[in-house]
Amino acid sequence: MRRIRAVMYGVGAMNAITTRMLLEKGVDIVGAVARSSEKVGRDLGEVAGLGITTGVLVEDDPDRVLGERSADIALIAVSSYMTDQYEHLRRCAMHGVNAITLSEESLYPWRTSPAMTAELDHLAKQNGVTLTGSGFQDTFWVNLVGLLMGTAHRIDSVAGRATWNVDEFGPELSRDQRVGNTEQEFDQWLRDADRPPTFGLNVLHALLADTGLTAAQFTLTTKPVIASKSMRSNSLNLDVPAGDVIGFTDVDEVTTREGTSLRFEMRGSLYDVDEADVNEWRIDGEPDVHVINPAVPTQLATCSQMVNRVPDVINAPPGFVTVEQLPRLRYRPHPLAQYLTA
Ligand code: NAP
Repeated sequence: MRRIRAVMYGVGAMNAITTRMLLEKGVDIVGAVARSSEKVGRDLGEVAGLGITTGVLVEDDPDRVLGERSADIALIAVSSYMTDQYEHLRRCAMHGVNAITLSEESLYPWRTSPAMTAELDHLAKQNGVTLTGSGFQDTFWVNLVGLLMGTAHRIDSVAGRATWNVDEFGPELSRDQRVGNTEQEFDQWLRDADRPPTFGLNVLHALLADTGLTAAQFTLTTKPVIASKSMRSNSLNLDVPAGDVIGFTDVDEVTTREGTSLRFEMRGSLYDVDEADVNEWRIDGEPDVHVINPAVPTQLATCSQMVNRVPDVINAPPGFVTVEQLPRLRYRPHPLAQYLTA
């Protein structure tokens, strides 16, 4: 039987989990790419902390890995924004390798980085491959919401609320979330920063694309989350005193010409001991709909969705294909190659 051949592009927190899940679903991992001397040259199983030897060494030359291994797909977990992601996706397309990425902006980059997305779409079509951004957003912030909206006759407003623990990810993300800033430093950053798109903005664009609603006006409000007592940042190896910043909340809103408004509030911060990741959506209209996941496992659900999407991405037509265009995400009890259509 045919087997799927995959390249792990980035071997950090997310692709370590994804590596295990792919191996458990009968995927052959034929290459792995990272940058640092602590990872390059070592076995993927060891770097990913799986306690097994995979026979795949981590390398630092993505062009060689993508060019030589006849991979069906690359799983990219490297960076968040199109400015960084473009080169990795371009490289996959040029080597004729499908790619799925956790880059948050890649979820729906047509409005926030239109030129780069159009170029990638063109290259992917030329080379007969599909490029897709997935991850936690795929179901919990886009396709679940789209499905619920499909149960309504009329929608006045859609309001989402999500939280995530910044300490579950690397130090870069903690710094991005301003963990350890004083309030004054935070205010200064907010005034001066040339910020990349918020994760919420790409979610709203995906929901607009899914429903065909037409945007009238977007607004963004950002508020710091302030420590009420001293809190530990493990990823920054830092104690944040009470009164300083432990993250922030973005509220993205869009009004539409059809009269439906969409709002997504997302908090990424350090957590107190009893906190868990929340995912909650309210649809007001006829009828009202409410769904809440009070303690959703963000890390695992990020990786499991990326893995379950592998056959969908390989099966999809060439181009930059966003998740609202893919089939409904399905549980994959069998080896992933069984779900390939060609
Ligand atoms: P991480 O632990 O920092 O791992 C990143 C990996 O990428 C590391 O192996 C790093 O290599 C490698 N890397 C970075 N730049 C590279 C380059 N230019 N060439 C080759 N390899 C490179 O990060 P993570 O927690 O796995 O997250 C990865 C990305 O996914 C982040 O941008 C994060 O925001 C995003 N993410 C998205 C979702 C979602 O649901 N969409 C969820 C979680 C995370 P070295 O370690 O050798 O430097």
